[in-house]
Amino acid sequence: MSLRVDAGTARAAMVERQLRNRGISDERVLEAMGRVPRELFVPEAVREHAYEDGALPIGGGQTISQPYIVATICALLGLDGSERVLDVGTGSGYQAAVLAELAAEVVTIERIPELAETARAALATAGYERVDVRVGDGSLGVPERAPFAAIAVAAAAPTIPEALYSQLEDGGRLVVPRGSRWGQELVLVVRAAAGPEERASIPCRFVPLLGEEGFGRS
Ligand code: SAM
Repeated sequence: MSLRVDAGTARAAMVERQLRNRGISDERVLEAMGRVPRELFVPEAVREHAYEDGALPIGGGQTISQPYIVATICALLGLDGSERVLDVGTGSGYQAAVLAELAAEVVTIERIPELAETARAALATAGYERVDVRVGDGSLGVPERAPFAAIAVAAAAPTIPEALYSQLEDGGRLVVPRGSRWGQELVLVVRAAAGPEERASIPCRFVPLLGEEGFGRS
């Protein structure tokens, strides 16, 4: 059996066992996760674990998120394919690739230049070269590309970053893990006329969002 077939089989099993069986019911998200070749977004050394049920190291002390967490974030964003989306914390580029399957335009920002470069290459190899990969402090968003219909934050913030909320369009949705450095809840914030509407989802544990509206510099 070729590697391509193996990866396809592993990916289909991941979608059924780790996502659908755990309550992810958004068919667009399930299909997107069934299409993105996760093995292209992990370092060679851990490639055989690409479809396992967990986070994996990607270098620089950072991780590619667990598939279930990526799917949960995407499902909370409720995308229909027409949106411009901001992805904060590019990491491997995997979440940006899944978002590219679900939305019209994806901008992603990473603070570590080497990770952004590797992610840019992986996105191009996987066929997602239209994703706009930037280097910088994503806690401040990307004002020159705002407003966004949706923003996904893949690092833990102590509070809802004000700059990110302000870059949402009316009715826009922001998903962010909020809490301490050691544990958080995934929170959906909708920008409504009367002010932010919040809904807490699942408990989670992310690396910290550093930067001005995160946990600071280190
Ligand atoms: N979504 C990623 C993926 O699919 O591989 C996983 C992201 S990883 C859990 C979190 C990332 O957020 C790390 O790469 C980290 O360097 C980045 N990060 C932390 N603080 C940041 C900031 N202020 N701006 C941009 N990226 C940041």
